[in-house]
Amino acid sequence: MKKLTETSEKRILTMLEDAGYEAYFVGGCVRDSLRGGDFGDVDITTNARPEDIKRVFSGWSTIDTGIKHGTVMVVMGTNVEVTTYRSDGIYSDNRHPDKVEFITSLKEDLGRRDFTMNAIAMDSWGNLTDPFGGEEDIKAGVIRAVGNSQKRFEEDALRIMRALRFAAALGFAIEPETEEELFRSKELLSKVSAERIYAEFKKLIIGKFAGQVIRKYADVLGQLMPELVAMKGFSQCNPYHKYDVLEHCLRTMEAVRTDKSNKAYMRMAALFHDAGKPSTFFKDEEGVGHFYGHPAKSKELACGLLKRMKADGFTVERVGVLVKNHDLLFERNGKLLKRRLNKFGPEILLEILDIKEADNFATGNMSSDLGAKFKDVRCVIEKILEEQQCFCIKHLAVSGKDLIGLGVEEGPEIGAILDKLLEGVLEGRIPNKKDPLIEFIKRS
Ligand code: ATP
Ligand code: MG
Repeated sequence: MKKLTETSEKRILTMLEDAGYEAYFVGGCVRDSLRGGDFGDVDITTNARPEDIKRVFSGWSTIDTGIKHGTVMVVMGTNVEVTTYRSDGIYSDNRHPDKVEFITSLKEDLGRRDFTMNAIAMDSWGNLTDPFGGEEDIKAGVIRAVGNSQKRFEEDALRIMRALRFAAALGFAIEPETEEELFRSKELLSKVSAERIYAEFKKLIIGKFAGQVIRKYADVLGQLMPELVAMKGFSQCNPYHKYDVLEHCLRTMEAVRTDKSNKAYMRMAALFHDAGKPSTFFKDEEGVGHFYGHPAKSKELACGLLKRMKADGFTVERVGVLVKNHDLLFERNGKLLKRRLNKFGPEILLEILDIKEADNFATGNMSSDLGAKFKDVRCVIEKILEEQQCFCIKHLAVSGKDLIGLGVEEGPEIGAILDKLLEGVLEGRIPNKKDPLIEFIKRS
């Protein structure tokens, strides 16, 4: 495992030190290296003022984006954030510190940070400054607010979301007092900007322990996503389903194939695929629950929620397609699967299949032959793709240009003929070869 003190970023510390300043690694990189894991971005804290940082690195490229808050980005392959020691003062709107004050004490800078595990500084030799017992908490797997948790969540309610995000990513437990305050302060979440919340939510949902965290803190997240609370405890009254709607959705999310579970949109689609069940619920005379039209309703709710959270357009759209089609029928039938490939394209079709398999698994009643059926369907799709069998107009052995060459007028007729040819090929009535296709056009 690479050590922080062996990274190229160490040079930034030594250059600041050589210029007479203090400088330390801080935040996530120290936390993750103490956990013995890989670390992402390296953050550096220093008593040098922004203008001093820029002077020390005048021979390098620097970016001023966060300079108001004391952050200078030093460009070094990746961008390294170098931030002046600061105290954040009061957050009267629960969003931004009213004013940032540059200070001279490292300990005070660590004291403004959110959790003890994120409030450890490491110098260029690997020595730690750890005034809040962060190392102990990392060893014990505990997320603990620095100082008074109530005050810290009032200052910046995003920390509530960050606590959940770290719990989901690291599998750490939230310390009881901090946890109690999470529940008590949850309403403050409404004051945090959607963009900040969504950035944390995206990290939360791909966390290895996301299911456990959402299960345990559904009421906290429910402040932002009432859709989750509506699913919680909602009985499906259906012998096919063992679990209530939320539990079923969580299990679906947890069952998404591991090679795709790092895709936030896959996990979001799984989590919200049945969000429309509570509002479409209907009990028949035998007391059995049905949810007619729930995929479309779930799509509406999931996309509404994501738009509210200011998710990017790609995510909203992809989650929408996956949720709306999660009930699609799949058979081990080449013709049917080619039609589906034509409609969705291979990537989305395979994702729908993944969600559907996870969904079936999460009923608690998936039989082993159902697993075999998914495998079979995947094999057929793979074969179609491998053999480059024709399933869309692009694959036809004749093109629009060929048709024009044959005297067909440019315009909608071209599309109509190509559709007809594709239909013939999919049905197995015409081989996908130029001569027979042209022959067919001439005949019809
Ligand atoms: P990651 O590994 O995801 O980057 P991180 O802990 O480095 O996790 P960042 O958002 O990069 O998270 O923040 C860097 C550091 O800044 C944190 O470790 C923490 O010390 C401090 N910090 C970030 N956001 C807050 C906040 N809202 N309140 C207090 N301190 C914060
Ligand atoms: Mg970081």
